[in-house]
This record gives sequence, structure tokens and C-alpha cells, in this order.
Amino acid sequence: MDKAADTAGFAFENRYARLPERFYTRLDPTPVEKPGLVRVNAALAHDLGLDPAALASPDGIAILAGNRVPEGAAPLAQAYAGHQFGGWVPQLGDGRAILLGEVTDRAGRPRDIQLKGAGRTPYSRMGDGRAWIGPVIREYVVSEAMHALGVPTTRALAAVTTGEPVYREGAFPGAVLTRVAASHVRVGTFQYFAARGDTEALQTLTDFVIARHYPALAEAGTPALALLGAVTERQARLIARWMGVGFIHGVMNTDNMTLSGETIDYGPCAFMDAYHPDKVFSSIDQFGRYAYRNQPQIAVWNLAQLATCLLPLIDADQDKAIETATETINRFGDHYMDAWRDVFRAKLGLAEAREDDAELAQNLLSRMAEGRADFTLTFRRLSELGDDPEADDPVRALFADPALFDGWAARWRQRLAMEQSAPDARRAAMRAANPAFIPRNHRVEQAIEAAVAGDYAPFETLVEVLSAPFEEQPAHAAYQDPPAPGEEVRQTFCGT
Ligand code: AMP
Ligand code: MG
Repeated sequence: MDKAADTAGFAFENRYARLPERFYTRLDPTPVEKPGLVRVNAALAHDLGLDPAALASPDGIAILAGNRVPEGAAPLAQAYAGHQFGGWVPQLGDGRAILLGEVTDRAGRPRDIQLKGAGRTPYSRMGDGRAWIGPVIREYVVSEAMHALGVPTTRALAAVTTGEPVYREGAFPGAVLTRVAASHVRVGTFQYFAARGDTEALQTLTDFVIARHYPALAEAGTPALALLGAVTERQARLIARWMGVGFIHGVMNTDNMTLSGETIDYGPCAFMDAYHPDKVFSSIDQFGRYAYRNQPQIAVWNLAQLATCLLPLIDADQDKAIETATETINRFGDHYMDAWRDVFRAKLGLAEAREDDAELAQNLLSRMAEGRADFTLTFRRLSELGDDPEADDPVRALFADPALFDGWAARWRQRLAMEQSAPDARRAAMRAANPAFIPRNHRVEQAIEAAVAGDYAPFETLVEVLSAPFEEQPAHAAYQDPPAPGEEVRQTFCGT
């Protein structure tokens, strides 16, 4: 493979590639038959100091498809392990992804550039190392939507097709997603070395993660413990943000939880339409392990796995290490509830904090569950309400039994009366906290179906609409709508 002169402007630094050899396997992406551009994320390219036009040129597309390795890249597949649905898998690793290297964005932050669907690696196990256009479209749409919603996430820099079929339930067009992440270090990366008793590697990895994501902790008395605390806090805040937009990740395995606190690995993920806390979409989640309401507990379970890995770095006395690590992850609950209250206070238009706010929010959610109210529309339309209950119909109509809303609305208005903020300012703040647009499953499915047939227009429109989720966008009002009967997507598939 030729090492292309780098037209797109990647200035690689490759810190991960300087870690010891046992952290990864060096290898180039496997070239594909006929690279074709689906989309370059011009705004993100700009943030990364890249030239979007060059990325969309034949040379750029060749890089995005894995047919050319840009100058300065040090391609590798990362090693990791993980618990999948609670079952231990000692070796996972990048089975279909290649890290090209790291660049520094315009804000001075290091960012990984990874090709997902780039061919087989030593970690592919039975897999083909490829992705089809469906999951690539889904990850592009949902990760970019999450970013626009203000939720920490990996990003999508580009999607290309390969010109090769990928065989799943049938033959589908192959594709590659270029993913951008603060880093790809996962809880499972720590587990990989812990399972091998490789304390030296755990120390190296801890130092790497602290330098990369939590530089202030380098000075802490026990950096590994400080790291555990910081990751616990970030994950608590992340999950609270998921809950606030009705997001269900679907595969919260330990290999899909980052140390950076970004959402990663969009597989069978979905946003809820009608609210129910037990909602699960993933076809492989038979017992609802990763249901909406379970997400905080699962995060704690995953953090406990991280804590176990870090014990040898926390204290030579194992009992003491277990005690302090346990105390640290037990703080998740407080961090989570603080973040959750902040998220839902904003959603209810409450600028001031009062004792009963969480209960007020929870009470609305219970009524929404009972009334099968649409999660996103309920909060969005709530943002428009004023003092007069006579004008509540747009929200009432979302409940199977509108009286469910009336009982709560009276309480909400009493609570609003205690606020200092003017009604207009309150409404504007609520509109900025309650999106009009989310990636509705039926819209994502429509975009995928069209893309399989070679039509990317629905995908393009969806990406555009979701880039401004808090704006009204009258021309795209239909994208606010829940699925019509018959359009509803009840299950999503891992799509690997
Ligand atoms: P995921 O559930 O998508 O996070 O993937 C779990 C593991 O399976 C990771 O190690 C992936 O790299 C691997 N994997 C998933 N799909 C494929 C594929 N098509 N080919 C090779 N490995 C895969
Ligand atoms: Mg994964």
C-alpha cells in the first residue's frame, strides 16, 4: 500500500502507538474494491484542522476507505477485553476498527481518528472485520445528534462505501465510518491487562489516561484512586444526560464504556418515543439488562470492574484498596442524582433548586409512563405552556388519559410560582433544554433503507435537521413527529 502524501492535512502524533507493543497490533486497513463518498462532516473536519474538500477528493476518500494510509499515521488495532452482558470475555479488541493515529484539534485537544469497518485484525475472531451501510448510517446520525444535544460522545467525521458486499441476513453495501474520539480507552482495556496480571501495563495505561483526560490528577496522592473517582463522576453525569434525552445505549458492556466519559459504540441504541422506564430495543437484550431505567446501575457495575483492575495500583494492602475503591464508586449515586436533578430541573424550567424537585420530575415521568406519552414532545410542548391551564391541550393530548397531566400540571405551576424568572425567559430556557428533534428510530430506519438502495438524501436531511435539535425548523416539522401506527420500530439490531 502506498503511503499517500497527506492532502487532507492530518498532523498525526500517535501517542498510543508509543505505548508498549502488547497494547495493540500494528496493521494497515484492508483496501476495498471501490471507495465511494457518502458524507464528510465539514464542520468537524474544520474543528480538527482538516480540509473537508481534500477529504472528499479521491485521495481523501481513499484514506477514509482504508485504501491509503496517510503520511504520519501509525495504524493499529487496540487490544481489550470485557464483560458482555455480564459474561467475561478475556480477549475482544478492535475486530473491525483501525486507529490511524491522533491529531490535535483547534481547541488543543488530542483526538483519535479511527476507521470502523476497515477489515480483519487479529481480534476479529469469527467476524469479517467489516460494517455495512446500516450501522454506519446509524452511528453517524445518532452520534452527531448526541453531540448537538450536548451529550459527550464520539463523533463521525465521514462515511464511505466500499463497493463490496457485506453478508449479514443478506448481502448489504459495505461501508466505513471514520470515528473521532477523545480516546478509545475502555474499561475493557484495563480488564485486558488485569486479567493477565500485568500490573506494569495497568500503571502505564493509568498514566496514559490521566495525561490524556485528567491531567490535574497526576499530582494526586494516589492517582489510580483519583482516576477512579473522576471516571465515576463523569460517567454519572453522562448517564444522567442520556436519561434526560430518553437515550438507551443498548450494549453497556464494559468494552463499550470509555474512560473519557464519552458515549461510544452505537449499536442497537435507540431514543424512546413513548416513555417507559423498562424500555429495551436491542434484539439481543432478552432480559432487559440494559433497559432505560437500569443504565445507572449498570454503569456502577462497570465501574466496579474498573475498580477491581485498579486495586493493585491503589494500595499494596488489598483490603485497604478494596475499601477505598468501594467508597469511591459508591459516590456514583450522589453524583448521578445531582446531575439527574440538574437535567430534569432544566427540563421543567426550574432555575432554582428546591427539595421536592426530583419528586416532581419523577411524578411526571410516572404519569407519562402510565399515559404512554411521547418523551420528547411532552417536554418540548411543556416548554410552551403558560399560566393558563385552558391552553394545555397540546401536552394533554400526548397522554392516553389527559387527566394524568392535569393533576401534575397544577403542582408544576405552584412550583413555577416560586421562581424569580420571567415566563418568557423560562420558556426560552426550557426550549434550550428540551429538544424538538431527536433521531427517531423510524427516521433512522428510513434513512438506512434508502441508503441501502443508494439514496443518501434522507440521511443527509436527517443529519441536517438533527444538527440544530433545539430550533423550531418549521420546514422540517414532520421530523418532530413520533412514528405513525405501522412505522414504529420495536427492535434494533446490533448490526455488526
Ligand atoms: P461491539 O458489540 O460492536 O462493541 O463489538 C464487540 C466485539 O466484537 C469487538 O471486539 C468488535 O471489534 C468485535 N466485532 C464486532 N463486529 C465485528 C465484525 N464484523 N468483524 C470482526 N469483529 C467484530
Ligand atoms: Mg464495542
